[in-house]
Amino acid sequence: MIRTRFAPSPTGYLHIGGARTALFSWAYARHHHGKFILRVEDTDVARSTPEAVQAILDGMRWLGLDWDEGPFYQMQRMDRYKEVIQQMLDTGNAYYCYTTPDELDKMREKQRALGLKPRYDGHWRPEAGKTLPTPPADVKPVVRFRNPTGGVVAWDDQVKGSIEIANAELDDLIIARADGTPTYNFCVVVDDWDMGITQVIRGDDHVNNTPRQINILKALGATPPQYAHLSMILGDDGQKLSKRHGAVSVMQYDEDGYLPEAVLNYLARLGWSHGDEEVFSMAQFCEWFELDHITPSAAQFNTEKLNWLNAHYLRQTDPERLEALVRPRLEARGVTIGAEPAFGAIIALYKERVATLNELADAAEVFYLKELHPAAELLAQHLTAETLPVLADFLAGAREVAWEAPAIGALIKATVAKHGLKMPKLAMPLRVLLTGQTQTPSVDAVVALFPRATVIARLEKALA
Ligand code: GLU
Repeated sequence: MIRTRFAPSPTGYLHIGGARTALFSWAYARHHHGKFILRVEDTDVARSTPEAVQAILDGMRWLGLDWDEGPFYQMQRMDRYKEVIQQMLDTGNAYYCYTTPDELDKMREKQRALGLKPRYDGHWRPEAGKTLPTPPADVKPVVRFRNPTGGVVAWDDQVKGSIEIANAELDDLIIARADGTPTYNFCVVVDDWDMGITQVIRGDDHVNNTPRQINILKALGATPPQYAHLSMILGDDGQKLSKRHGAVSVMQYDEDGYLPEAVLNYLARLGWSHGDEEVFSMAQFCEWFELDHITPSAAQFNTEKLNWLNAHYLRQTDPERLEALVRPRLEARGVTIGAEPAFGAIIALYKERVATLNELADAAEVFYLKELHPAAELLAQHLTAETLPVLADFLAGAREVAWEAPAIGALIKATVAKHGLKMPKLAMPLRVLLTGQTQTPSVDAVVALFPRATVIARLEKALA
């Protein structure tokens, strides 16, 4: 049975890179009808926070990346790590090292001066026929893993291909600090082992940890999982993705008005492809997803493409759900959604034209404001000596015309014709006065959405 895991460190929100790692691990498990495990790596107590744990869980839930087991918390597994450390000491796979940090510093300085790579000199490492020094009474020892000295550690990375590291390159890793707490790499190993992980899918910033983890797993008699190291995600500008690029937290995308299915579809295509397919559901993705279709090179974030996908999914979303998603956004702005115009009618008219839920909220907001204050430069540009008389004529007609788009459209046409002008000379001032915007759906449809009284009030105010 395939078992994958997502193992975030709760030191911040769930960012785009983490979300893609989670998505790939999740999809791989789903594809193979396996299990997806969520593990919170919270042993860095100085940097881990409960808020970050919450933010990660919220992000996963928002995306719908459901886990089958967990969340497990490493801080709750300390006894288990200590038990395995003891086991490794008992079997001779680990040993106490009494070299103090000061001595280590000096050792490294000397090695550097000699042009050597700084490393632990193996002073306390047990060897056949070697007599170990007497432990000093006043030093609390760390525990080191007795890394093999010869041969290589190799694995066939499912993204990067085969990787081989000479054991001579690897130090005897500290697995427990002087206060007895286990170190990061060791906890990961014990967890992957205990949780029966078959595929480790993670960011390639962990590639250097992999040979160490494999060696410890082997020492424990465990079969190492398969590894797939994902390349990082770059911003639009080719630089490492960071806050500079705008939203990097998954929940920021929610706030900015993206649909989770659009973000998922977008992330799925970030470094993975299935022919020319661009738009697909998560069910489809899980059916297709295999690790051998992952690109080993870095993926570049493309906000335009995300916006395009979001617009696509917005158009597919049924009106009730859209209303439910936009309503709280308007309420958060202090806008009361009145009986008129019907909220659903606004959504229906605008949903084809927007890229985000926030743009939909922007569009809907103007219909419910008691007073609208269009930008001064828009007023100056569109309310001119030429257009004001046309508007006045339209206002007169608007008091009587049947209040529906076709009749209003006919009135607009007749009014501009009477003045020998083109459509925009009336359509643009109407757009600006009614919505504060110059880009709207067809102007007769927009006017017809408003109650007649609102249109009359906004035009009277402008003409006063
Ligand atoms: N906790 C690590 C991180 O957030 C992931 C470790 C792993 O996947 O092995 O970067």
